[in-house]
Amino acid sequence: MTKDAKAFAEQWVRPEIRALSAYHVQDASGFVKLDAMENPFTWPDALRDEWAELIKHTNVNRYPDPHAQTLTKQIAKNMGVPEGMRVMLGNGSDELIQMIAMSLSGDNRAVMSVEPSFVMYRMIATFCDMQYVGVNLDTNDFSLDTAAMLTAIKEHNPAVIFLAYPNNPTTNLFDADGIKQIIEAAEGLVVVDEAYAPFTDESFMPLLGQYPNLVVMRTVSKMGLAGLRLGLLAGPAEWLNEFDKVRLPYNINVLTQASADFALKHQATFDEQTQLLRKERDRVIEGLSQLSGVKVYPSDANFILMRTPEGKARPWFEALKAKGILIKNLDGGHPMLIDCLRPTIGTPDENDAFLSAMREIAA
Ligand SMILES: *Cc1c(COP(=O)(O)O)cnc(C)c1O
Repeated sequence: MTKDAKAFAEQWVRPEIRALSAYHVQDASGFVKLDAMENPFTWPDALRDEWAELIKHTNVNRYPDPHAQTLTKQIAKNMGVPEGMRVMLGNGSDELIQMIAMSLSGDNRAVMSVEPSFVMYRMIATFCDMQYVGVNLDTNDFSLDTAAMLTAIKEHNPAVIFLAYPNNPTTNLFDADGIKQIIEAAEGLVVVDEAYAPFTDESFMPLLGQYPNLVVMRTVSKMGLAGLRLGLLAGPAEWLNEFDKVRLPYNINVLTQASADFALKHQATFDEQTQLLRKERDRVIEGLSQLSGVKVYPSDANFILMRTPEGKARPWFEALKAKGILIKNLDGGHPMLIDCLRPTIGTPDENDAFLSAMREIAA
C-alpha cells in the first residue's frame, strides 16, 4: 500500500469536517468547577439510597423502551407541555438539534441563529452540510436585533432558526415581542431553546400551538442532571413525527430513563437547589460589580458574563486557575466576546472562594 491512513482520510472526509476542531472540554480534575453551567449540588443521602435501590432492580440486559413512554409523560408534566403537543426525547438537547438539522438539511438550506450564541447550532449545521447564518446581537447589551433578523430571514429564508432563551453565553432573555415577530416572519421552523428554564420565569412553552412553526427545546442538564444526557423537544406532532424518523432507535438508555423519571418525581429537591442558585447569582453579580473596571451583564441563567479591563481576561482566567478555580475564558472565541469571562454559579462556599479570588486578582 502506498497510501497511508492520513491520505485515505484526506481523500474522503469532507473538507468542512476536516477544517473543524472537535468540541473542546477543559480538564477539570481537582478544580472548583465553575466552567460548564452544572448544578453544583449533589443529592440528599435518602434520595441517593432510594435511587440506588431502583437502579439495583433495573435490567440492562434488555433494550430500553424505544419511546421512553413513562419518562416522556413525567417530563411533559414537570415542564408544563401544553395539552395536544407532542414530546420527543434526545440524548441531550444536542442530539435534538442534530435530529432537526438532519431532517431539514438539503441544497441551499440554512440554519440561522444570533451571534454570539450556543456554538452547537453552527457546528451541527456544518455536520449536516447546511449553510449557517449568524445575525449579530446588539454590541452594547447583547439584545436581539429584531430588524436585522427580519432582514436576514427575507434574504436567506432559513429552514430553521435557533434562539436560546435565555441566551448562552450572553445570559439574557431576548425581547419576547421580537421573537414573536421572528416566528411570524419565518417561513421555516423556529426552535426556542430553553436550556436555562430553571433560572427564569419566562418561557415560550405556554405559546406552543399558537404558531404552526414554533417548537420549544429543554434539557435536564442545567437543572442538575447533566450526567444523564436528556433533552426534550415539544411542539406540533406534524413536525415531531418527522423528526422522530431520524431518531436512532433506543436513543435514551435504560439507566437514563429510570434515573430521570425518578429524579423528576422528586422535582422539589431540584427546585430548591435552582432557587438557591438564583439567589446566589444575584449575590455573585453584586460582588463582581464592585470590582473596578469590570462590567457584569444581567443574568437570567445559572452563569454570568463579565467583561474585564482590556487584555485581562486571559491573565485573570489563569490566575483563577492557579488558585484552583476553573471558569470559562471566552476571549479569543467570538469577536464580540473580547475580554469576556464566563463563571458558572456554584455552591455558596464555591462562590465565596471565587469572589474572594476575584477581589485579590482584580486589586
Ligand atoms: C447547555 C446547552 C444546551 C445543551 O444541553 P444538553 O441537553 O446538555 O445537550 C443546549 N442549548 C443551550 C443554549 C445550552 O447552553
